[in-house]
Amino acid sequence: SGLLSGQFAIITGAASANGLGKASARLFAEHGATVAILDLDLTAAQGAAADLGPGHIGLACDVTDRDACQRAVDQLLAQWGQIDVLINNAGITQPLKLMDIQGANYDAVLDVNLRGTLYMTQAVTPHLRRRQRGSIVNISSVSAQRGGGIFGGPHYSAAKAGILGLTKASARELAVDGIRVNAVCPGFIATDITAGKLTDDMLVGIKAGIPLGRPGRADEVAGCCLFLASSLASYVTGSEVDVNGGSLI
Ligand code: NAD
Repeated sequence: SGLLSGQFAIITGAASANGLGKASARLFAEHGATVAILDLDLTAAQGAAADLGPGHIGLACDVTDRDACQRAVDQLLAQWGQIDVLINNAGITQPLKLMDIQGANYDAVLDVNLRGTLYMTQAVTPHLRRRQRGSIVNISSVSAQRGGGIFGGPHYSAAKAGILGLTKASARELAVDGIRVNAVCPGFIATDITAGKLTDDMLVGIKAGIPLGRPGRADEVAGCCLFLASSLASYVTGSEVDVNGGSLI
């Protein structure tokens, strides 16, 4: 039993051992979901799925590749017969200043974060529509809201702000089909994105800007994803939920 008992969830970018996606995968599995981890590397995705226990699936899927997204969803539907939840978590960031962003930087960051979210949403939508149910959670960032974080450049802020627009537009369009779409905006969370890259001085500065006085943990973002994915949030759609220790107060 659990909040997602009998449900099937796809989480992209969830192979990273200490990442936000993996934390959600773990929590979802604890709450009774069967989980598919989609990530770039098949072995890593399968290993992460095996960590969750038996019955979970790891697939190689580059979310910037529309056909790959469709193939992954088709394969899961053939195996599971249903999909209830999609967490669009795959993302990359680059710590660049405005004038240093080249076309290739823009393409890479916009493609994974924003295009990937669109393609995965498109891939699951016909099925969710047929069943008139489903919950999609898109991972944005405090960088979208305050125009920059610690590691993201302006192109990352733009991609994550784009996700907020995409979230609201798809929530509006899919509401009639009983499909909810929400965004989570994590603040500064300790994961591999940040591990070992912060000086003591930087940490002091970061903590000073966080009313709760510490970085967040991946499981604290996962808890919010679980809420939005589950029927606890049955009347919540088109929202952006901050998980940032009060950084915007
Ligand atoms: P992470 O680097 O640990 O995990 C990201 C995962 O995405 C990796 O496993 C990577 O292989 C995968 N990935 C990259 N490109 C992909 C592609 N094209 N297709 C499929 N998978 C791909 O990072 P994380 O900190 O766990 O971040 C997860 C999400 O949370 C990202 O969207 C990130 O932007 C967002 N976020 C993180 C923080 C933070 O402080 N860590 C804050 C705000 C938002």
